[in-house]
Amino acid sequence: GKSIVLSAYCDSGYPGPEHFTIETVPVDDLADGGLLVQALVMSADPYLRASVKSNSGKPLGTPMSGFIAGKVLESKNAAWKAGDLFGASLPFTTVQVVTADQLSKTVSWKLSEFITEDQISLGIGVLGMPGVTAYAGLVDVLRPNEGETLFVSAASGAVGSLVGQIGKHVYKLKTIASAGGPKKCALCKDAFGYDEAIDYKTASNTAELTALLKAAAPDGIDMYFENVGSMHFEAALAALRAKGRIAVCGSISAYSDAAPQPCAIHPGQLIYKLQRIEGFMCAPWLGDPKGKALRAMAAWWKEGKLKVQETDYHGVERWPEAFNALFTGANVGKVVVHVA
Ligand code: NDP
Repeated sequence: GKSIVLSAYCDSGYPGPEHFTIETVPVDDLADGGLLVQALVMSADPYLRASVKSNSGKPLGTPMSGFIAGKVLESKNAAWKAGDLFGASLPFTTVQVVTADQLSKTVSWKLSEFITEDQISLGIGVLGMPGVTAYAGLVDVLRPNEGETLFVSAASGAVGSLVGQIGKHVYKLKTIASAGGPKKCALCKDAFGYDEAIDYKTASNTAELTALLKAAAPDGIDMYFENVGSMHFEAALAALRAKGRIAVCGSISAYSDAAPQPCAIHPGQLIYKLQRIEGFMCAPWLGDPKGKALRAMAAWWKEGKLKVQETDYHGVERWPEAFNALFTGANVGKVVVHVA
C-alpha cells in the first residue's frame, strides 16, 4: 500500500506538500483476529495539525494516522466479513493489515449498516468523526431548546455545516453562521439553512465582529458552537444572553500560531448571567458502544434533514494539499481524499 509519511515539522504557518512524502509500504501477513483492509477515502481534519509540530513527539519518517473509510478485503475476525464497509482511525495507508490488538485499541464502526460503497465518503463526514462531533457539541453539550438562537463559526465546514442543519431542522433554532467570504456565506444560507450569515473577513477586530453578530442577532445569542477561537470567542461571549452556553469544539485560528493569544473572559459575567462554557472532545461519543450519536446522525441524514457538501481530492498524493485547504479555507463542507 501507499502511506502518507511526515517528512518535516511545521511549527508555525500552514502545513502542506513540503511536510509530507508518499511512500510505498509492504503489506503484513494476515494473522488470526485480524483484517486486511482497503482505504477508499482518507480524511483531512484540523486536529492533525498538532502532530505536525516538532513538540508532537511524532518522529519524522513515520506514517500519519487519522480517519479513513473503506472496505474489508479479507477477514480472520468473527465480527467482520469480506466486503464490510468500515470507518476507523488507522494509519493513512491505502491497503493494510489491521491486527487483533490494533482493532481492540482503535475506534472502528460498521458503515455497511447505513450506506453502500458509492456513499463511502459519508463515513468520514456525517457518519464519521465530524458528524459525531456535531451531535456531541450541539445535542449533549449545548442542549438546545426550541426557538433559541445558535451561532456557529467555521459554519460552512464539515462540523459547522452539520451543526447548523441539526439546529435548524431538528431543534427549530434561529441559526447564525460565521464564514469567510461572500460565497461561503451564501452557501450557509442556501444549502445549510442558516437564517443569517456573517462574513468574518470583513471584521478586523473583536468590536467589529461583535457589531456584525449583534446586527444578525439583535437580542443576542443563546448558544455558540465554537470552532475558531480568538475574536470569534470574544464576540460570541459579548453577545451571549443570560443562561447562554458555549461549546468549545475547536480553535482553528490558533492552530498554526507558535504562541496562541489568550481570550478575555470576565468571570462576573458568567456568574450573574448564569452562563456556561464547556470544552469537549468527540472521543467518548465515537467510542460509545451503542453508537447513539452515529445512529442519530444516520437517521437525520436518511430523513433528508442533513445536506452534505464535500471538497474532493483524487489520489493519496493530494492528501497534503487537502490538509492545507482546512487552514487556508479552500474547502467547503467536508474535505475528502479519494484513494481507491
Ligand atoms: P472545517 O471543514 O470547518 O475546515 C476548517 C475551516 O476553518 C476552514 O474551511 C475555514 O473556513 C475555517 N478557518 C480556518 N482558519 C480560520 C481562521 N483563522 N479564522 C476563522 N476561520 C478559519 O473543519 P472541521 O469541521 O473538520 O473542524 C472544525 C473545528 O472543529 C476545528 O476547530 C476542529 O479542530 C474542531 N473539531 C473538534 C473536535 C473535538 O472533538 N473537539 C472534533 C472535530 C473537529 P472559512 O473559510 O470560513 O474561514
